Amino acid sequence: MSPRPPEAPSRDCDLCPRLVAFRSANQTNHPDWFNAPVPSFGVQRAWLLIVGLAPGLKGANRTSRPFTGDFAGDLLYATLLRHGLAVGTYGARAEDGLRLVGCRITNAIRCVPPGNKPVAAEVAACRRFLAAEIRNMPELRTILALGVLAHGAVLTCLSVRKRSHPFQHGAIHHLPGGLVLADSYHCSRYNTQTGRLSAAMFDDVLARVSLNRAPVAATFDDDMIGAIPPKRRKRARVMTQTTEPFNGPEGERR
Ligand code: SF4
Repeated sequence: MSPRPPEAPSRDCDLCPRLVAFRSANQTNHPDWFNAPVPSFGVQRAWLLIVGLAPGLKGANRTSRPFTGDFAGDLLYATLLRHGLAVGTYGARAEDGLRLVGCRITNAIRCVPPGNKPVAAEVAACRRFLAAEIRNMPELRTILALGVLAHGAVLTCLSVRKRSHPFQHGAIHHLPGGLVLADSYHCSRYNTQTGRLSAAMFDDVLARVSLNRAPVAATFDDDMIGAIPPKRRKRARVMTQTTEPFNGPEGERR
């Protein structure tokens, strides 16, 4: 029997020669940066998995936490905090104490690609780790794909035909097995500066995704409840007790 592949990449994963060379150059030029495959953020017993494209050069690649330290993180974490999917204060660094509530964040590609543009072989090589993420989340109900590449990577991991579920911002796809895949344009600076995605549009996607929120028992542990300021605990409990699933037709658009 062949050995089971690792569930997460090692710091020196060498499956993508181009990305390894870029990582090596960054280690030389910026020895104080993380410069390694960026691990996922959040507990595995989360109901929501947010899948981005790849670490930003001066964001996650520098700080070691997905979407942390660049513009995309400013928008993502502010929105998660507003919807009760995170508690604490986002400080644009991995040690800011921010905690996710019922969600986990990962990237389709764990190493920073030059120009933020991975090639197909790199997406394929790193897919084993995305598949392991999905496989190892027992409470998973919803995946939010940020961008067409993440959308495609998720569907391939789940062996679902892309033609049956094309990417569209705001789309909600009901997949075989009961899993929901939601789509959003990536919350990158480029997309917001060009007007493709506004903060209101992104907030609207998270509001819809939150309708599929898991019951409180699957979302909070005692530690997390304790981390919420007393004044906000009642509201957080009410929000997390909303168990109404998405009811729209397959591929519903907004
Ligand atoms: S992108 Fe993924 S598969 Fe490629 S070297 Fe990095 S961790 Fe390994």
